[in-house]
Amino acid sequence: MDEILLKIEDLFIEYQTELETVRAVNGVSLEVKSGRTLGIVGETGAGKTTTCLSILRLLPDRTGRVTGGNICFRDKNIYSLSEEEMRTQICGEKISMIFQDPMTSLNPVMTVGSQIYEALKYHNHENKTREELERRVDEVLELVGIPAERKTEYPHQFSGGMKQRVVIAIALACEPELLIADEPTTALDVTVQAQVLAMMRDLQKKVGSAILLITHDLGVVAQMCDDALVMYAGEIVESGSIEDIFTPGSHHPYTMGLFGAIPDLDSAVDRLTPIEGLMPDPTKLPDGCYFADRCPYAEELCKQIHPTRTSLSGTHTILCHRFSEGLKEVSHE
Ligand code: SF4
Repeated sequence: MDEILLKIEDLFIEYQTELETVRAVNGVSLEVKSGRTLGIVGETGAGKTTTCLSILRLLPDRTGRVTGGNICFRDKNIYSLSEEEMRTQICGEKISMIFQDPMTSLNPVMTVGSQIYEALKYHNHENKTREELERRVDEVLELVGIPAERKTEYPHQFSGGMKQRVVIAIALACEPELLIADEPTTALDVTVQAQVLAMMRDLQKKVGSAILLITHDLGVVAQMCDDALVMYAGEIVESGSIEDIFTPGSHHPYTMGLFGAIPDLDSAVDRLTPIEGLMPDPTKLPDGCYFADRCPYAEELCKQIHPTRTSLSGTHTILCHRFSEGLKEVSHE
């Protein structure tokens, strides 16, 4: 059976400024199992990146804080570890993160080889020699499809796709058990996107890491993930296996809206069907369902009472009154 590497339970995160409190993550629970890929999908501002930053304790010091819940990596509560333990035992070694923009993730005045070497040296518990670490630098560069002789070059000498490969090489250098990839292909053109995704899949097979993939692209989720979560306004509104999410049937109205907004190449339409309206203001979240103002199925009850999660099968859950006990007589398309 797949082992649970990461377990997040009922996580709440707020950004506090002098003027207001932004409720960015509101009761998120999820599990990532070894060797599997979990996709988190949702529009900008849904809380995807904030959730992932909190796993590595990278929320902004002054404003971001976890106000509730637990994050455990292999039964270790991340927030009970000291800064030193986080740096030496978790970050980079057990959990690595690929950030959205490769242009700002790399140090412009260090060669790409030194940046990979630095990560290896920091986590060099086996006291490997410089030559051994250099050999590993060559190995990971080759692994991501960059000739080892280019390790003496600087980031500006690489294209966007190649820079992202370097970022992935740094993230994978220490063979982390969990790789968090925050929209790793957003800054890339489509052909390079496909190459980078294929490479991440190959690497997962070779290294056996679990991947937590954040994206707003349902195509990428279908291609890469075993399981998926749909986030909206800081909540998981639907979760399940890829089959649960992609098979037509019972779905959260927001998930249906996301699928409805994808262009269909087989039919000619003048305009796509967007989800009308905007996400609620996270400083003033409503009492009822957060999606109520945009939902074509909203009823009075939705505006007054927040829905509770309903399990439709062993893996498939939905946060919507239409699927709650007592409202099941409502027909679902
Ligand atoms: Fe729509 Fe009501 Fe379901 Fe919210 S609870 S998604 S408003 S039907």
